This record gives sequence, C-alpha cells and structure tokens, in this order.
Amino acid sequence: MNASGQRFRFAPSPTGFFHVGGARTALFNWALAQSTGGTFVLRIEDTDETRNRPEWTDGILSALEWLGIDSASPAFEGPYFQSNYSDEHLRAATKLYESGCAYYCDMSPTDIEERAAAEDVTGYNGWSRDLGLEPGEGRVLRFRVPEGSTIVRDAVRGDVEFDHSVIEDFVLVRSNGTPVFNLANVVDDMSMGITNVIRAEEHLPNTPKQQMLWAALDRDLPVWGHVPVLVNEQRKKLSKRRDKVSLEQYRDEGYLADAMVNYLMTLGWSAGDDREILPWNEIVSLFALDGVNLSPAFFDVKKLSAFNGEYIRMMSSAEFLGACDPWLPAEWDRSTFALIAPHVQPRLATLSNVSGVVDFIFAGVDYDDASWEKVMTTDIAGPLLDEATNRYAALDRWHAEELKSVLEEVMAPFDLKLGKAQAPVRVAVTGRTVGPPLFESLEVLGQQETLDRMRAARSRIST
Ligand code: GLU
Repeated sequence: MNASGQRFRFAPSPTGFFHVGGARTALFNWALAQSTGGTFVLRIEDTDETRNRPEWTDGILSALEWLGIDSASPAFEGPYFQSNYSDEHLRAATKLYESGCAYYCDMSPTDIEERAAAEDVTGYNGWSRDLGLEPGEGRVLRFRVPEGSTIVRDAVRGDVEFDHSVIEDFVLVRSNGTPVFNLANVVDDMSMGITNVIRAEEHLPNTPKQQMLWAALDRDLPVWGHVPVLVNEQRKKLSKRRDKVSLEQYRDEGYLADAMVNYLMTLGWSAGDDREILPWNEIVSLFALDGVNLSPAFFDVKKLSAFNGEYIRMMSSAEFLGACDPWLPAEWDRSTFALIAPHVQPRLATLSNVSGVVDFIFAGVDYDDASWEKVMTTDIAGPLLDEATNRYAALDRWHAEELKSVLEEVMAPFDLKLGKAQAPVRVAVTGRTVGPPLFESLEVLGQQETLDRMRAARSRIST
C-alpha cells in the first residue's frame, strides 16, 4: 500500500470511444493519487454485455498510457474487471436481503406502470415492501429506502441534500439474477478499499443511493467529488453525436499528449493565478478539489489547438523534427525539411497539418483556385512577377534576406506594401496565399526551382 493509504479510482465502462470527459476524470484522479502519495485503481466496468466490446477496453488502456497514466507506476493498480466480481456483488445483495435492507418484488414494469396510473403516482411506490416475498423466478431485489434524507458531502460541491421522497426503492438485482450498476459499483469500491470517489457530475443522482448502500453494508463512506460536465460552444453537454469527443481522434490528428493533459486539467480547475501552461509536476503539486469550479466547463477545440501550438513551440528543434516525422511522406527528403522546419514550428497548431504546410517544397505546386483568382487576376501580378523573376535570375547569392530586399526594390514603383507584393510570388511558387515565411521558403526551394515556378505562373497569367 502507498504512503497515504488514499485510494482513488477510475471506473470507465467500455461502451464506446474513450471520451475527453473520461480522460479528464482519469487525470484528476491520477493527479490526486500522485499528490497524496496514494493509489490510482483502474476498474473496467464491463458488466453491460450488450454494449461492451473488447476493443473499447483496449482503447481505454492505450489512451491512459498516452496521457501518461502509467500502468507500470507503483501508484497504479489494476486493471480490474467488474465482470469478475459478480459473485461478490450477489453476496452483498444477499446480506442486504437478510438484514432487511432489501426485499423481493414481483412486479413487472407493466404492472408498475398500470398501478402507478391507477393510483396517480409516478414510478414504483414500494408496493411489495411488506409482502415478505422470497427470492424466486421473475423477482427483483429492491433496496428499502428509509424515510428522511441523505446529505452527500461532496469535496467539490459542498453538502448536497436529497430528500428520500423522490428516491424510489431501487433495484439491486434484476429478475435475471444480474446485479445492477449501483450495487456492483459500490461493492467494488468497498472491496477495492476505495477512499475517494471522484467522478463526473452526471453520477451525482446515484450518490445518495450509493451512500445508503455503504451505510447499510456498515462501511465508512468514501470522500465524494463530482466534477462539472464538459460542454460545447452552445453550452450543451458534449455528445458523441454532435461533438468531436474521442480522445483517440485528437491523438490521431497529431495533438500532443502533454498539451492535451495540460488543457484537460484546466477544464474546471485553475492554478489560482493566470498561468495555464504548466508542467505536469507543477499541476500535481497545485491541484486540489476545492479549486474545482462548479460550472460546466467549455471544451474549446480552438483553445486546445492554442495549447498544442504552445507545446509544439516548447519542443527543441530535434524533438520537433522527430515529432513531425510520422506525418511526412517517407519519400520527402528529411534534410530539406530540416531547413524549413524552424520556420514552420512557431506557426503550427497540430502536427497533422505539417505536410499540408510544406508540401509545395516536395510535391510541386498545385494552384489553389481561390488564391489564384484573388491574387493573379490583378493588373499588377504579371508585371510584378516579370520584374521579380528578372531580378531573382540575376542573383549570385540565394538567401532569404537578399530575396526580401530585392522584392522590396521591385515593389517600390508599384506602390505596394510588402504583404501585397509577396502575394503573387507566393501564389506562383506555393500555389496558395498562406504558408511559411516566403523568403525562407524560396531559399529552401532553391533558385532554379523558384524561377521555373515563377515563369510557369507568369505564362499561366498570359493565357
Ligand atoms: N462506469 C461508470 C461510467 O463509466 C462510472 C462509475 C463511477 O465512476 O462511479 O460512467
């Protein structure tokens, strides 16, 4: 056991792609386990046979590794698989039945609906409570919710009170003998010695029921903490259908793990000053649940990209070259790429964009129609290109600074600012109006290739 004895857990269900919200919950727990010298327990809640798939479990494991939640660390324990513990869940159910905290009920959902309609109540109204039914075919086991209320002491939200009048006698074991989520989840937390249950806010309505189970099974409560949901730009809860929520997708698009981790940790939490870009060690030392905000946190892909850009800029040149490598076609010459890389690194938001930014160097020029239309159909494009081509052809030294000052001389009679004067040269050579700094690009491309492209563009204008 680790020093503090505090045991956190992350308990995902493998029913789909690993969600960025799940990633944040996992990271909050991992940060707390590390800062308290405690343990992070991974439990895969794989009891929903209709929705589980082994590949989702693999996705969770690889996503956690990618985030730096290292299964080889002494602070990491698991993964445990909930489906292995159903006997234990059922033993707890029997105990609850024997102690009178739970009872059998033989009403089907239709029976309940009809009776509720007849008596003008909503849901199940404890009708079988005192019938003393024995276990049997078609019977569910229900928890006998006592009168009164439950106060959930939440490390994020403070005390939250739930009146039992709105909590029906909930099912613990289905009529087919399988344990229900609340029972399995609580029994596993107990037997895995969990002391801190930090999870998404959407589980808060389960918590009074779970707390009653902890009490009925005579165990000390864990510390609860429910962290706010992630929402999209319209302030709607992030959803698989509407939003890009899969962590794998961001990874596959070339977001950096460190940037993703740092960004996720700022969703609903801040270090207390205005610094947002923080190394993991510092996050661990500062992170605390009482600094977690109550309001929903906006998962802003633009901001994530800005974080990613920051992390790309923090790389050494060698790291940057290495990180770009998988994103570049094998046949592109790496030493040529190394020449343009320092001009690309400061401007890149995601690694997956790198090939599209430098392709003109390796794959020839492919004119973008809109760029051509905008820049090459003006009166000055042709004469400016003619003049620039002549002057560039006469140069002995092919160097970015010189290429710039020559263009400045060329543009003077045209009464243009540098940006406007660059445009025809840029479109001629790269095919587009945007790209890495122009003169450095020309330098890397070389004199002959640059001149060939300028001439080709010029003749395209004339036709
Ligand atoms: N398996 C549940 C889920 O993925 C989480 C349960 C919990 O954290 O208590 O939503």
